[in-house]
Amino acid sequence: MHGDHLSGPVFRGQRRGFMLVLSSPSGAGKTTLSKRLLTQNPDLVLSVSATTRAPRPGEKHGEDYYFMEQGEFIAKTKSNEFYEWAKVFDHYYGTPKGPVEEALEEGRDVIFDIDWQGAQALAESAPQDVVRVFILPPSLKLLRDRLHKRAQDSDEVIEGRMNRAKAEIEHWNEYDYVVINDDFSRALEKLSQILHAERLKRSRHPWIEGFVDALMEE
Ligand code: 5GP
Repeated sequence: MHGDHLSGPVFRGQRRGFMLVLSSPSGAGKTTLSKRLLTQNPDLVLSVSATTRAPRPGEKHGEDYYFMEQGEFIAKTKSNEFYEWAKVFDHYYGTPKGPVEEALEEGRDVIFDIDWQGAQALAESAPQDVVRVFILPPSLKLLRDRLHKRAQDSDEVIEGRMNRAKAEIEHWNEYDYVVINDDFSRALEKLSQILHAERLKRSRHPWIEGFVDALMEE
């Protein structure tokens, strides 16, 4: 009994990490949720994206993003240093490969805060390793209010962001799980349940095959 998908770590309890990809329209609370999930699970690793956009007040290089010039970003796309990259709101965003591969090999799970384009590209490049979660706002009105509060942008800019939010929401059914963020604690609890159930999935524990073989020989 040697299924292909069951090749990998052989020690009891050992497993390869997976990629927990969170997407949502901006303003639905995804960043706050992922930060809280990280605080609760210090063994989780956050994938820090690279971007050509300017830092917002309070954002730190290497923590929120790797901020870089367009030239440097383009060079990295050419040397294949990103899992995926996309142009969002006139700026480039990309997921650096190195730290993610290292974490997965160590058996650590990696959380991604990226849009549907990034989620789709990751799922195509590593289908066994990707778990996709879509966070929905309870209403579009709430999303609009949050966008107004977050930035002193003009109505026109906010409308542009609302249109982008709707375009993001259209991809909800490409995800494994959907969480409606109507109550922060409940949404966090659901995310945590997804994380822990996914960690137990049989296909992530190839060592079980050897365990069962030994069990049957007792
Ligand atoms: P923001 O500029 O508000 O931080 O992010 C804008 C959008 O870019 C968000 O929808 C965010 O999820 C997405 N994003 C951030 N990092 C990446 C990435 O590495 N790849 C892709 N495809 N999208 C990203």
